[in-house]
Amino acid sequence: MAKTVPPFHPSLLKLYSLSIILISALACATNPATGKKDLVLVSEAQEVEMGASADRQVTQSMGLYDDEDLASYVSDTGLRLARKAERPNLPWKVQVIDSPVVNAFAIPGGYVYLTRGILAYMNSEAAMVGILGHEIGHITARHSVQQISRAQLAGIGLGVGSIVVPDVRPFGDLLQTGVGLLFLKFSRDDERESDTLGVRYSLAAGYDPTEMAAFFGVLDRMGERSGNDVPGWLSTHPDPEDREEHILQLVSAQAGNRSLVVKEEEFKRRLEGVIFGENPREGFMDGNRFKHPDLRFQLDFPTGWNVQNTPRAVYSAPPEGDAALQLTGTPVEEGTRPEKYATRFFQQNKIEFGTGERIRVGGFPAYRAPFRVRSPQGVLIGEAGFVIDGETAYEILGYTYEQRYRSYRNTFHTVIESFARLTDRRALDIQPHRIALYPVPGNTTARKAFLDSGAGDESIDELALLNNLRPEDPVETGTLLKVVDPPLSRQPGRSNCPCSAARSGSRPFSGSPSRSTFPGWSWSCC
Ligand SMILES: [Zn+2]
Repeated sequence: MAKTVPPFHPSLLKLYSLSIILISALACATNPATGKKDLVLVSEAQEVEMGASADRQVTQSMGLYDDEDLASYVSDTGLRLARKAERPNLPWKVQVIDSPVVNAFAIPGGYVYLTRGILAYMNSEAAMVGILGHEIGHITARHSVQQISRAQLAGIGLGVGSIVVPDVRPFGDLLQTGVGLLFLKFSRDDERESDTLGVRYSLAAGYDPTEMAAFFGVLDRMGERSGNDVPGWLSTHPDPEDREEHILQLVSAQAGNRSLVVKEEEFKRRLEGVIFGENPREGFMDGNRFKHPDLRFQLDFPTGWNVQNTPRAVYSAPPEGDAALQLTGTPVEEGTRPEKYATRFFQQNKIEFGTGERIRVGGFPAYRAPFRVRSPQGVLIGEAGFVIDGETAYEILGYTYEQRYRSYRNTFHTVIESFARLTDRRALDIQPHRIALYPVPGNTTARKAFLDSGAGDESIDELALLNNLRPEDPVETGTLLKVVDPPLSRQPGRSNCPCSAARSGSRPFSGSPSRSTFPGWSWSCC
């Protein structure tokens, strides 16, 4: 959960539908980027409207990274490329998502996103330009638009009009089927075409596209190491080596002997101080206890349940998937009475509710009531707890299928009653890891340099990958290496050791094709 609770009203099971009326006539248009004839059933105005709605969903559910300098640097660089590309009049927007997950993606209408996670693993402005160029390429070549058009023609309900983003995910990943439609999986040919366009746009702006090829190498190594799937946008390509090869061929054919820009050091300085890995200030799991240092509260989830922390809400479900809990926060006026708040909440969200009772939870005034709601999955019954802590109202909703209600009712009550003020000093003081720079003092190997910088032995592979080096590679005096502060390795028994922050789920990319939680470790357990 983000500290500044976004101004939204958690509307249970309310579906937002971007109702866009589609032109039913077939249209064949020449693709501006590729020159090919495309099947296009979506006008540019519709594409832009669809993109704008999707962008609101993306930024609200995933959250933007709060760093003005970095945001304008990435945006300015991306816009310079986009405005020279084939669709300069789209309302281009290039943004940095606050997520440790390594990912980049684009949605129709001109919206391009990089996560802080992917930026951390880049080593030059040219690499970033290549990836931005690739994503811009998906938009200029209208890959999504064509897919939506083809699906429409095939009568599959994948049309723009059916893009639906639910506010909560009771059973299964509704969010994925909702936002997921915006992240249509591109074909191998689409990816290859985007690589070609990425090279073209890089060269047009004077950057060296071999840096982009090198970055694909990093992603490849990442996939091998983590054992996880590589990010979704890469995984459609069976062989990242082919991809590197393809890019290098294009470069040798197109670059000539121009001198091209890389900007390594300057780029790394831009990354200094950027949060690396999960940010525990926005909540982390310590065993089955969720602790939120910025909002100073804790809540115990049932043992064995999966917990996912997103900027909007914390979700939890048992492995069986037949029940769900969600925790959200909403700003309220100081002194708001919990029963009044509860009634308003239920009414605003059109939820049927039963007789409740005023209780005290962790010393806070609270109200608890049963509720029921009709959903596409059938009737859901649950228990809701509302806790008022100063200027924030917390809503804790537990729900399940009608026939399972009896077996979960007590569990829901226990969770609601576990809400308490966070007083654990170590948790309150916890700080995220940040990227720092280490200038190599004398010629040595990467491994030795990392150790000299204060890193632990077990983090050498991770740091080497972060710098696109092998541990045994030589590094020269003055080379600027990216390291992590405080160091990734932690002494056993060291005090501030939050467990399972990283394993609590990839935050907040559940809706994207990338299920990768890489980097898999940001906090080691003691
Ligand atoms: Zn792609």
